[in-house]
Order: sequence, then structure tokens, then C-alpha cells
Amino acid sequence: MGTPLTNLDRLCIHTITTKPWSLTQAMAGYAKAGVPGITIWRDALAELGVAGSAKALKASGLKVVSLCRGGFFPATTSAGRQEAIDDNRRAVDEAAAIGAPLIVLVCGAVPGMDLAEARSQIADGIAAVLPHAAAAGVKLSVEALHPMYADCRSAINTLGQANDMVETIRHPDLGVTVDVYHLWWDPDLEREISRAGRNILSFHVSDWRTPTRDLLNDRGLMGEGCIPIRRIRGWAEQAGFAGFIEVEIFSNEYWAMEQGKFVESVRRAYVQHV
Ligand code: ZN
Repeated sequence: MGTPLTNLDRLCIHTITTKPWSLTQAMAGYAKAGVPGITIWRDALAELGVAGSAKALKASGLKVVSLCRGGFFPATTSAGRQEAIDDNRRAVDEAAAIGAPLIVLVCGAVPGMDLAEARSQIADGIAAVLPHAAAAGVKLSVEALHPMYADCRSAINTLGQANDMVETIRHPDLGVTVDVYHLWWDPDLEREISRAGRNILSFHVSDWRTPTRDLLNDRGLMGEGCIPIRRIRGWAEQAGFAGFIEVEIFSNEYWAMEQGKFVESVRRAYVQHV
């Protein structure tokens, strides 16, 4: 399912994918490679500051697809939970400033905290940030993470759980992110993508390597692993998704490469395997 993408019109790269590059280098490198979209990780804003980044991004001609990442709502103290909400509100301001229509939420978890409690705190946190996001014209998107991260990164581990949360909160500025790295194994994925429908706000790709040598920083280029990326993209498009395809690869191996060469590999893998 899914037809090959024959041009680069929908290709977006996350700044973390080319982590050794500054924002200035990433903007130049992506533009040179004909990549039209960029997703900004918040750490990439440090080089030029928020206002400087906004100005440079505007001048670059790149489309800012999203800001990564908000979330990390659960905490063991109420002060910690409030701090997370405040930080997410700052992320909303940053997104609005740089023209990012969307913030991806890595919702958070605390080792030892009951996962149902963490999900309840996540729902409260999202609800607390939504009015500020809506006023700023920024959407929030719940990204389910692979269950290997349920200890400390996200208590939302399936698209079904993300859909449940979005349907419970019910807000026009809240949706879900489908990341094939986190979700490919789920027997309910096709059904949950269909259920998410127009709530799918963004779509992330990379591949699952065998063996995976590092739980965080060993993602593969598309086509290097076992994820049926094109099929999953087909399901998302059947559900109504027509946005950017975002390449999000954390890889110690690829970060060690000359990044211009790596972006060329990303481009090739995108055309061949997405
Ligand atoms: Zn992702």
C-alpha cells in the first residue's frame, strides 16, 4: 500500500537528525539538498536565540513543520508538575515565534510512578497548556513512544492510548503524531491510524535496526530495518494525512558522519523507501 514519493515536496528533516550541525548549518545544508521542511528541536534555538532563529528561518525559505518537543508532564511534586506546564507554555511561545504550527509532545513518565497515574498527570498537563497554545495558534500533538521508554519518557505507548487521550480531552488544537519507529509493531496500528483520521498532525520516519545496539541512539535510515514504512504511510494517507514526512533519526553512527553526506543518504532513502 502507498505509492512511492517521486519528489521531495513533502520531505522534512528534524534538526536532531543532523545534531552536529548548528541551526545555521542545518538550514543551509537542507536547502542545498532540496529539502523543503525543517522540524526544530528546542536546543537548536540556542545558537541564534528565538528571535534570531525566527528571522533566519524566515529568510531560509524552509517551511517550519514543528517544534520538538514539549511534554514531560508527570512529576512527583506539584511544583514539578507546574514547572513542566510553565516550560510547555514557553515552548508554545517559541513555536509561535518561529512559525511552527505544532509542538510534538513526548508526554513523560517517572520511574516508579504508576503508569495510569502518569497518564492522568499528562492529561491534566495538556489541558493546562491547551488554552495558551490555542491563543497562540499552535497545535499540540501527542506522540506515543515505544514501550521500551515507558519508564522515563512516556507513559503513552500505543496509538490507541494517544487516541484515547485526544478523544477524552477533545480540543480542536490537539492531535496525534504517528512515528513509525515507536508504533510499527502494534497489531492494532492500521485500525488506530484509521481511528485517528484527521487528528493525525504529523508523521515521523526512521527504521528499526537488528540488532538495536543502543535503546536511544541507534535508529536506522529508512530501508535499513524491518519497518514497513510505505505501508504505514499508506494507512495514514487513507486516513486523510497529507502533510510532511519527517525524518527523525537519532544515531551515534550517523552523527559521526560528515553531515552533508548523511543528508544525501537521507534523501536517497526517502525516495527509495518512503
Ligand atoms: Zn518522533
